Amino acid sequence: MLRFFMVMSLFLASFGGAWAQGEPQRAIEHVAGNLYRFQNNFHYGVFLVGEVGVLLVDPISEGAATWVKGEIKTRFGKDVIMVAYSHHHADHTSGGQVFADTAEFLAQTRAAPEIEKSGHTTAPTITFDQRYELPFAGQVVEFIYPGPTHTDNLIVVRFPAEKAIFVVDMATVKRLPYRNFPSYHFPAVIDSLKAVEALEFDIFIGGHGPMGTKADLADHRRYIEEIYAAVGQAVNDGLSLEETQARVAMEAYKDWGQYEAWLPLNIEGLYNRVSPKGE
Ligand SMILES: [Zn+2]
Repeated sequence: MLRFFMVMSLFLASFGGAWAQGEPQRAIEHVAGNLYRFQNNFHYGVFLVGEVGVLLVDPISEGAATWVKGEIKTRFGKDVIMVAYSHHHADHTSGGQVFADTAEFLAQTRAAPEIEKSGHTTAPTITFDQRYELPFAGQVVEFIYPGPTHTDNLIVVRFPAEKAIFVVDMATVKRLPYRNFPSYHFPAVIDSLKAVEALEFDIFIGGHGPMGTKADLADHRRYIEEIYAAVGQAVNDGLSLEETQARVAMEAYKDWGQYEAWLPLNIEGLYNRVSPKGE
């Protein structure tokens, strides 16, 4: 029972007061130039305000999309004419149908059938494999597939005028990667993140957590590189999962978010990938 209460209080602490009252936490924040980030609880999307309409990346959910559509109309008097999906996962892409009366829908080629199959949002009307360039709001917005990371259809969106990139799930600012690295491709993710680092930008806008800089993206890639190498070494040395969790401390990152909670899970996810004894 004590354990139950501990789990419940952790649950409430992590989801915060807003959810306890049933009110989603929503906000719009100006990033730079014509670019804005919007929040729906633990998820973030972005939108770029142009002359003729608005480009939006990741509608998140039907509720979030309905809310942000109204806010965009009230603040800017414009409709969303292009919706891009970062990847196929429903927690970022749901709610596209809210914009179906005015928008086209863009996604990486491999995301399209997954989105269509799941039916959680409007299917993409435009797809691309490596790179798509969209003249918008006086600049050319770039949609870039950097290689496999978290899924094999996750893209980065670069806004050259604002010197900003929008990056979902493959990296976060000063926070450990999510739990056991779900849907991650190893070791390809390391080179893919290096390709993202090589892009020209100053502002790193995440799909989760705070905004950061290019240095934050490099730190995140370094963490993944180091933990992957450390777990690989432990497996080579014949260590069990428990022994690996005891050895790999990732001390340099102990101030990062979710260090205590997710480090053992990060190790477990990698151990199961690299160990012949793993799943
Ligand atoms: Zn995802």
